[in-house]
Amino acid sequence: FFFFFFFFFPTFLPSQFSRTLPLTGIPLAATVAFSLSDLSRCSHSLTLDLAAMATSAFGTTTATSNYRNGGAANARNLPKNSSVKSKTGVRKSAPGSLGGGGAASSSSKDDAGVPGRVRVAVRLRPRNAEEMVADADFADCVELQPELKRLKLRKNNWDSDTYEFDEVLTEFASQKRVYEVVAKPVVESVLDGYNGTVMAYGQTGTGKTYTVGQLGDEDMAARGIMVRAMEDILAGVSLETDSISVSYMQLYMETIQDLLDPTNDNISIVEDHKTGDVSLPGATQVEIRDHHSFLEILKLGEDHRFAANTKLNTESSRSHAILMVNLRRFVKGKDSAVSSENSSSLQTVKSLKPSVVRKAKLVVVDLAGSERIHKSGSEGHTLEEAKSINLSLSALGKCINALAENSPHIPVRDSKLTRLLRDSFGGTARTSLVITVGPSPRHRGETASTIMFGQRAMKVENMLKLKEEFDYKSLSRRLDIQLDKLIAEHERQQKIFEDEIERLTAEAERQLSDAERNYVQALEKERSKYQKEYLESIKKLEEKWIMNQRKSVNDEKSKVAPMEENPEMKKLLEKETAHRKAVEEEVWTLKTQLAESRRSEALQSSEIVKLRKMLDDEAHQKEKLEMEIGKLQSHLLQLSVEADETRRQLDSGGSEEVLSGLDSLLHQPRQPQSDNSETGDKESVAKLFEQVGLHKILSLLEAEDADVRIHAVKVVANLAAEEANQEKIVEAGGLTSLLKLLISSEDETIHRVAAGAIANLAMSETNQELIMAQGGVRLLSNTASSAEDPQTLRMVAGAIANLCGNDKLQMKLRGEGGIKALLGMVRCRHPDVLSQVARGIANFAKCESRASAQGVKAGRSLLIEDGALPWIVQNANNEAASVRRHIELALCHLAQHEANSRDMINGGAVWEMVRISRDCPREDIRSLAHRTLTSSHSFQAEMRRLG
Ligand code: ADP
Ligand code: MG
Repeated sequence: FFFFFFFFFPTFLPSQFSRTLPLTGIPLAATVAFSLSDLSRCSHSLTLDLAAMATSAFGTTTATSNYRNGGAANARNLPKNSSVKSKTGVRKSAPGSLGGGGAASSSSKDDAGVPGRVRVAVRLRPRNAEEMVADADFADCVELQPELKRLKLRKNNWDSDTYEFDEVLTEFASQKRVYEVVAKPVVESVLDGYNGTVMAYGQTGTGKTYTVGQLGDEDMAARGIMVRAMEDILAGVSLETDSISVSYMQLYMETIQDLLDPTNDNISIVEDHKTGDVSLPGATQVEIRDHHSFLEILKLGEDHRFAANTKLNTESSRSHAILMVNLRRFVKGKDSAVSSENSSSLQTVKSLKPSVVRKAKLVVVDLAGSERIHKSGSEGHTLEEAKSINLSLSALGKCINALAENSPHIPVRDSKLTRLLRDSFGGTARTSLVITVGPSPRHRGETASTIMFGQRAMKVENMLKLKEEFDYKSLSRRLDIQLDKLIAEHERQQKIFEDEIERLTAEAERQLSDAERNYVQALEKERSKYQKEYLESIKKLEEKWIMNQRKSVNDEKSKVAPMEENPEMKKLLEKETAHRKAVEEEVWTLKTQLAESRRSEALQSSEIVKLRKMLDDEAHQKEKLEMEIGKLQSHLLQLSVEADETRRQLDSGGSEEVLSGLDSLLHQPRQPQSDNSETGDKESVAKLFEQVGLHKILSLLEAEDADVRIHAVKVVANLAAEEANQEKIVEAGGLTSLLKLLISSEDETIHRVAAGAIANLAMSETNQELIMAQGGVRLLSNTASSAEDPQTLRMVAGAIANLCGNDKLQMKLRGEGGIKALLGMVRCRHPDVLSQVARGIANFAKCESRASAQGVKAGRSLLIEDGALPWIVQNANNEAASVRRHIELALCHLAQHEANSRDMINGGAVWEMVRISRDCPREDIRSLAHRTLTSSHSFQAEMRRLG
């Protein structure tokens, strides 16, 4: 520990400081923990806090400090109340008692030590009888001021030096008071475990022995310090645990003699360098049990001292008497935790402050007389002897001087006395010094010397340290006991535990076997129960089964009977069922038919509505025309009358009048002449022709006047509308004139009316050929390409459509662009126009079909060649029924020839064919389409392909 400390700190601590560390007491603690592995079986661990032990050991180690260390410590720890030189040169001593107020006692727990200056009291001996006489005329050389703790040493009659002491004891001070002031505090310190020293210094005859060693046999009040100290020690200790032993020696001429054993006349000093303890193992040690035995020891020592001095031819004043009282006190540790092993809650032994032993030593020294040797010359000692006699005393003086002056060297080893007292001055002991002086002025010098010694001694500072060490033996003994107890307890508990285990095991085994037995029984019981139940249920089931068998046989019988009993009913039921089925089927069929008829009815009704409308229109138109005709007839009649008159006048007149007449004729119908308009008939028209002359009217078609032409063409058109007139008109060249009008005129009305007339004329086969022969198709085509009025186009288309129905003219018609002309007219979307175009195409297709059927024509249709198919397919489902019917027929005709099938399939016509075959309301067209589709291999293949 010590090593460790010095190893680390000197590098940064001042050297003198580090030197003092052991004494100034850096708080050090070591915790030594050890578990007693031997106790492991007890499942207890014992931890001991041995801090105090370690610290105490350390403290003991520091007690090895020598005078030098003590001196250094003294310098650093000078108490506030230490002596200081005042301005006036008066030495001031600390107030209070010599013991320092028991500082050591109050600080006894401070292991680092407490400063404790050497206390010095001065005691004045009363004048003895001789001095009473001899110094009767002289005053004392000292004057005491005990209240001020001052002593005045008279230099002469007018001058004196004043000194302060810790205590000033006058000649009247009692032994008791001296003891209490000088020794008692030291004795108390010793009882607390500190070393202590009480020493008397002074000239021979001043009362040292009286103060220290007086036995007080005759006068109890005269008992000296030794006796009183022992009284207090005996009162303070407990002789059951503590021990007091005493040695009593005399030091003379550096030889230590045992005052308790005269034969033991050279005792050597043993110094323990570890602890710093000084001991005299050779000296007799007497155990003190009571005060009486102590007094006996003192007396014995006194006797032996007297005898020894006689034998050595010396006086007791030349030797130092040393009483050593070794006190050994046992201080019980606080180890309650160890003793509480019975408490089950306390598993671990807590911190233990072990018992300690305090070994304190009280040294009481009655020094030899301090007077100088030369004054004792009469005693007959040689100079060397004299030096030797005073060696120890002078060495003590030197050491005290050195300590007082903080000298680096303290000559402790110079004498046996200083070696013995090394702990008393500059050591760890509490030290009190009483210096004794006599009053006689004759010994003033010696008195002064004594006073100076005392003054110097007051400067010596000790560092009080507790002298205690662990009571290892008792600790070990007690631990052993404890351990034995714990082991025994553990064994006892182990035994209980094992017994308990055994008991529990037996119990468990018993319960187990019980349970097993119960289980087997219960199992057997359950098994037999279930077996029984099983057999019973089997039996029940069998019975039930038999019952069911019987019942089912009965049931069968009961079921069959009624059926057999009632065959008619059965038949009736079957009949009824069949009937019901038939009715249901019929109902279903009717429903389907109803739905079908409703659908067709809807279609037909819309058709009927249209037809009715057309019929109405036609009737209305007819009415109008008849009215007009009537008018015209009347006018013509009038005109013919006038014409006759004019003819008669022609022989002398011009033709203008004729024209104006015709014009008026044509204008007549616009005038309301309803009176006779309705009366007109074919006969009247024929009459009109006859009267006016057809040639005349036709000639007017080429009239220069446009209005005349218009009127004329209208008249011709009206005439051509009558089938009866057509032949005459054609014979009269009317057709040719009409065709010419298509080229010559640019008037749309003329074109329209002329085309209408041509269309009417084109009804007959002969006329058709004529029209063709005269290039009518081209003319009509040209008219169609330039026409804009739908009615013009309708007329043109109607004319061409009529031509299309001629088998002989197919090639020519197509060659002159008839088909193209028809297709060109579909640009006008008027349904009347489209209807005529569709009719033309249907007519053409029909003729082609016929020709193909007759083998006249081969190859695909010219319609397809001229690109009519896309339009045909597009309009096959045209919303206008008139258009749709014609196209449907056309498709059917085209489809009848294999040569067209490829184009039709590619053009998407198959779908339309299918539609027609299914949806066309006209039965004949529908069946035609169906036949056509089913008979064509190509169409069949395509339909399969399309799924
Ligand atoms: P020392 O030991 O210093 O040589 P002692 O103790 O022998 O001196 O004293 C010398 C004598 O003086 C003795 O007879 C002693 O009784 C006496 N004496 C000393 N001090 C006192 C005192 N205070 N009161 C009475 N007598 C004293
Ligand atoms: Mg004496």
